Amino acid sequence: MTAFLKTSWISSAWAAAVLLTLVASPAARAQENTAEEAARRQAVLATLPPDAARRVFGLTTTPTPGPGQPIGSYTKGCLSGAVEMPADGPAWQVMRPSRNRAWGHPALIAFLQRLAAAGEPFGWRGLLIGDMAQPRGGPMLTGHASHQLGIESDIWLTPMPDRRLDPVERNEMSATSVVAQNGQDIDSSVWRPEHRRLLELAARDPAVDRIFVNPAIKRALCREVTGDRGWLHRIRPWFGHDYHFHVRLACPRGASQCQSQAPLPPGDGCGADLAWWFTPEAKLPQPTQPARPLRVSDLPHACAALVTPAR
Ligand SMILES: [Zn+2]
Repeated sequence: MTAFLKTSWISSAWAAAVLLTLVASPAARAQENTAEEAARRQAVLATLPPDAARRVFGLTTTPTPGPGQPIGSYTKGCLSGAVEMPADGPAWQVMRPSRNRAWGHPALIAFLQRLAAAGEPFGWRGLLIGDMAQPRGGPMLTGHASHQLGIESDIWLTPMPDRRLDPVERNEMSATSVVAQNGQDIDSSVWRPEHRRLLELAARDPAVDRIFVNPAIKRALCREVTGDRGWLHRIRPWFGHDYHFHVRLACPRGASQCQSQAPLPPGDGCGADLAWWFTPEAKLPQPTQPARPLRVSDLPHACAALVTPAR
């Protein structure tokens, strides 16, 4: 029974992933430097119709004015009134500035600043912030099925260096994977107690809905965390995510057009849910892009209105 339930749960997860996941692994993508990402962007553009949501949102370089408003779901939505994360702060630096993806709802900006400050006393000098959202959210030309509402961000598992990186470094520098080559566990030569503390701080933040990490990281947390394990259920295993983690905030208060995700199942997620990720089934090839690209008209009307020129 358990096995059946597991299989059906995973099947629906796969079905969702088939619809939503892009061509290569998220891990490979976020490591891309500027030239690699630009080349793939061009290759993708060549295949897309004019009204493809990825094309239209991916080529829009400015936000709309007004209050921050996430519209739709994490994987089919957009953001009006986006705010740009400052490239530098006392305890953060925004990476990959050439991508123009450091936009978000004010709640995301506030969360990142809060986490950056909270991490410092625990030995995490500062955050290297990866992709957040595009200026109007929406699907991206490269990488990420989600990140569309402006309430999600990638954060590198590499601590911030003790100096300001220049723009070239931010576009070119690679993060370090904390997962062993065989994918079975963390790489003990890289993994530090500070990684665990940073993930705990993030998971305990009241704005956070869930956090995605590589299954090997979840396995390490399940083994290492003692005392109050109540935050562990918010840490969810997913493909890739070996050198960054992905924070997904819940819909901010008052965001009436933001669609919440189903609540997480109870429990710390350290049992059968986690074990599945280390079975042969989990090693099957990842789903690829669906044949029919999402059009702007497939998104909520309010999203289409964000990118349609006024007549
Ligand atoms: Zn992400």
